Amino acid sequence: MIEFEFVVVGNGMFGSAAARYLSQQSDAVAVIGPGEPDDELTHDGVYASHYDERRLVRLLGRSKLRSEIGRMAMANYRWLEERSGIQFYDPVGYLIVNSDDVEDNNLESPMEVMAALDIAHTLFTAGDPSWRTIFPDFDFPETHWVIHEPDPAGVIDPRAMLRAQNVVAARDGAVFIPEIVVNLQDDGNGVQIETQSGDRYRAGKVLVTVGSFTNCFSLFPNPLPLHTETEVIILGQVTPQEAARLSAMPALAYTVDDAVLRDIYMAPPARYADGNFYIKMGANTPSDFGPSSLREIQDWFRCGASDVHLADFERVLTSILPAVEFLSFRMKRCILTRTPDKYPIIDQVTSRCYVASGAHGSGAKSADAIGMIAAGLVLDGRWPTNISRQYFRASK
Ligand SMILES: Cc1cc2nc3c(=O)[nH]c(=O)nc-3n(C[C@H](O)[C@H](O)[C@H](O)COP(=O)(O)OP(=O)(O)OC[C@H]3O[C@@H](n4cnc5c(N)ncnc54)[C@H](O)[C@@H]3O)c2cc1C
Repeated sequence: MIEFEFVVVGNGMFGSAAARYLSQQSDAVAVIGPGEPDDELTHDGVYASHYDERRLVRLLGRSKLRSEIGRMAMANYRWLEERSGIQFYDPVGYLIVNSDDVEDNNLESPMEVMAALDIAHTLFTAGDPSWRTIFPDFDFPETHWVIHEPDPAGVIDPRAMLRAQNVVAARDGAVFIPEIVVNLQDDGNGVQIETQSGDRYRAGKVLVTVGSFTNCFSLFPNPLPLHTETEVIILGQVTPQEAARLSAMPALAYTVDDAVLRDIYMAPPARYADGNFYIKMGANTPSDFGPSSLREIQDWFRCGASDVHLADFERVLTSILPAVEFLSFRMKRCILTRTPDKYPIIDQVTSRCYVASGAHGSGAKSADAIGMIAAGLVLDGRWPTNISRQYFRASK
C-alpha cells in the first residue's frame, strides 16, 4: 500500500492551496480528488463550487476577520502567478452598492471594517450621483451609496488559480491522484484511505477539503455542521467589441431592493470555454434550496430547475447595465457550502483527520490563506497569531 505523510482529499480551491503549502514542508504529499467533469449533464461523480471563469475579490469582507483572511490571500496572488507562470488575477477594482434600508449579509458594518483595516476606497453617499461620470455603464437607485474599492480588488479566474497552485505543488513533489475518496479510517497511528475504485492508501495525516461533499461519504465519524445551498448565475453574452469596451469595468456587489432577487454580484466580461464573452451575474433567490446527499447534488447539477428566475435575472441585469447590448442569456447551476456563523471550518476532527470547508460563497478569494492556515494546523498545530481561532472550530 502506498503511504504518504500528508494526504489532501479534494483538489478544489482550498485543497490545491493547502497542498502547495504542505508540499513546501514535506516530500510525501498527495492530493486525492478528481478533475472537472467533461459533461456536467451526464457526469456520475462529484462536482465543485469553482467551475467558472470568474470569482470576485476584494479586501472589504463581511467582517474584519474575513477581510483579514482575504487580505492575506490576495497578497500572494502576484507571487503565485510568477511562480507558476499562470495568470489568474485582474485587479479591475470593485463597486459595493448598498442601502441602509435594505437588509444585507454583512456581519459588521462595511464602513467600520474599511476604517479599522484602512482599506483604500472612495465613498459616494446616497444621493450623490458623481459616481455616474466615473462608471457610466452602471445604473443604481439614488437610495444606495456606492463604495469604489480600487486595485487590489478585482477578479480572479478560479480554474487558472487552481492550476497555478497545482503546478507549484507538483514542482515541490506533490502527487495527484484523480479519484473520489469514499472512506477514511483514523486508527490513531495513521489514516486508511479508500477510493471509489477500491484503491487504498495510507497517510500520517489527512486534510479533507471536499466542500459541499463533506457529509456525502464516510469521511468523518459524524456529519459536520456544513450546509449546501444551490446557487444560480446568469451569463449575458456580449460581442467581443462590447467586451473590449467594458474590459476595465469593476466587479460589483449590489444589495438590490428587488421583490425576487437578493445580494447581486457581477463580474466584468470574460471569454468562456465556448469562445464567447459573457458578463456574469449571480444572486440569491427564493428557489435556492439545500440538497444534502450525493444523489441530490448530482440531480441538481444534471437537471436542476435553474431557469425558474431567468426573467428576473435578465430584468435586473439589464437594469444595472442599461446601455449594454446583450446577445443572449443563459443560466448556470452551482453550489455553495455554508456554516452556521459564516466563518469557514478549519479544524482537527479526529486525532489525524482535519477539515477546511465552508466559505459562504466567498471562499475563492481567500482560498490561498485558508489553505495556508489549514496546512499549518495539519503540520504541527500552528495557527496565525492575527487570526482568532475560535471562529473556525467545527463545534463552537
Ligand atoms: C456561483 C458561485 C459564485 C461564487 N462567487 C464567488 C466570488 O465571487 N468570490 C469568492 O471568493 N468566492 C465565490 N464563490 C465561492 C467559491 O467558489 C467557493 O467558496 C470555493 O470554491 C470553495 O472551495 P473548496 O475548495 O471548499 O470547494 P470546491 O472548490 O468545491 O472544491 C472541492 C473539491 O473537492 C472534490 N471532491 C468532492 N468530493 C470528493 C471526494 N469524496 N473525494 C475527493 N475529492 C472530492 C471536488 O471534485 C472539488 O474539486 C462562488 C461560488 C459559486 C457557486
